[in-house]
Amino acid sequence: MIYSKSALLLIAVLAVILFLTSCSKNDDDIGPSPIPEPGNEVVYLPVVVHVMHNGEGIGEGPNLSNERINRQIEILNEDYRRKVETKGFNDHPDGGDAQIEFVLAKKTPTGAQTDGINRIDASQINVPELGYNQNHFAQYAYWNPNAYINIWTSALPESMMCLVLGSATAPETDLPGTQYLPVPGPNDAEGILINWMHFGESDIDCHARFGRTLTHEMGHYLGLLHTWGSGDCETNDFCDDTPAVDSHVFGKVPFIGCAGEEIMIGNYMNYSHDEVMNIFTKDQIQRMHYVLKNHPGRNALLTSPAL
Ligand SMILES: [Zn+2]
Repeated sequence: MIYSKSALLLIAVLAVILFLTSCSKNDDDIGPSPIPEPGNEVVYLPVVVHVMHNGEGIGEGPNLSNERINRQIEILNEDYRRKVETKGFNDHPDGGDAQIEFVLAKKTPTGAQTDGINRIDASQINVPELGYNQNHFAQYAYWNPNAYINIWTSALPESMMCLVLGSATAPETDLPGTQYLPVPGPNDAEGILINWMHFGESDIDCHARFGRTLTHEMGHYLGLLHTWGSGDCETNDFCDDTPAVDSHVFGKVPFIGCAGEEIMIGNYMNYSHDEVMNIFTKDQIQRMHYVLKNHPGRNALLTSPAL
């Protein structure tokens, strides 16, 4: 059979279209699975720990040991997963498993292998003084916040123990209460600062020594307010299942809150002693998952190449 030139051309074009169609069909079949719907299954978030030190050997002072860092990430997961037989377990009717797990990054921004621990000898690097905040520490090390949760452990002097614990930037979303959170400006660094003495477990003489400072700051990073919100009974933390309270919650003894009921002393979003902390409520968990779904940067963490 003889085809005209134009018929041959048509057949060639059709063949290419068919080939492309079948290829893209196959790509759909073998491509990455869709982003999981937060709340329906466990989601994994990559973290990098930038360990700021002053030239100490590994395991000495602020140059925290790998064991202590790994244990801190384990504690974070015990708390967010409400793991049985750990301090993070509770059987409170309003408590829940947040179904969020944190993983030390496996890849650096350039694709190299990493254990997710980035040690920085600050004594060897001069950076302009910007104050004690994320922007300052980002001058030493800052990995793409859409692919990593940046955590800097800061090398503060021991006189700051129990005075400076940590801080976190918050996500900008349309959730009520966002206006009370420290949302960074467009050119500001995002991440979490933890005073090295409060990172992981230790035997320091302080109410915060069981690694829950990071649990608390991570709550802010995922959009949670303190249980007292802006500090009055009307404007609270926008979670109905945390009893309203109009003052900062310290200590380890519950007291009576706004509605005449006991406040939730063990909530991670208090300033309570971290030995009594063991609960995120269902509303708090829902709020964090809303952020993971609707904040572009936080959502991108779910499919980070660092995992
Ligand atoms: Zn806080």
